[in-house]
Amino acid sequence: MPLTPAILPQLIQAALETIDAHAEEVTRLDQTLGDGDHVVNLQRGLKALSEQSAELAAMGDWSQALQKIAMTVMSKIGGASGSLYGTLFVAMSKALKDKPMDFAAFAEAFHAGVEAMKQRGRSDVGEKTMLDTLVPVAECLRQAAEAGTPLDQVLAQVKEAAIAGMESTRDMLATKGRASYLGERTRGIVDAGARTSQLMICAIADRLADQP
Ligand code: ADP
Ligand code: MG
Repeated sequence: MPLTPAILPQLIQAALETIDAHAEEVTRLDQTLGDGDHVVNLQRGLKALSEQSAELAAMGDWSQALQKIAMTVMSKIGGASGSLYGTLFVAMSKALKDKPMDFAAFAEAFHAGVEAMKQRGRSDVGEKTMLDTLVPVAECLRQAAEAGTPLDQVLAQVKEAAIAGMESTRDMLATKGRASYLGERTRGIVDAGARTSQLMICAIADRLADQP
């Protein structure tokens, strides 16, 4: 894994491109289950990060860079997803403070971040949210770190976990967020937040796999 924040502009770009490419599809999901603003919220946040790309890339320290990302995401995305992603990056920043970044440290930090999101959202897997994508990914990373799995295999496994997690939301009943007001009508449709986190994770994994 590339070890410095110099990789961030590429990863932010990959996330922004996939959200732009799937904007219509996700908005349709979010118009059915939510208030239809999820894509616009994410695009606003990702564009702001993209504008800060050079500054982020120049940061010598992952903890600092993640803290800056957290602040931007919280203020620019807004809504439930802005505060949840903000929480993810704040917790990752804390977990990586004064620690050298390697794959095991990243896996632990991501896990800590997702645990913090659960607390912030008072939610867990099985409630038809982005956590259904993120929790299995965190678990997959941890297992791979423990097993010493080679990076190309980790990236493939992470993508599989993200896709399976996103797909698992299709038949769930939403009990958190705006979709929870719709009850049984939420079955049969994938959660927008689960889809966008899966899309961003897969795009980032692909970009990392392309690194020389
Ligand atoms: P808002 O719900 O404030 O309009 P967004 O539309 O940006 O925010 O994001 C909606 C997404 O956020 C949902 O699709 C869901 O995945 C996620 N979400 C909402 N509430 C929660 C929660 N309590 N825990 C985890 N994820 C949540
Ligand atoms: Mg919304």
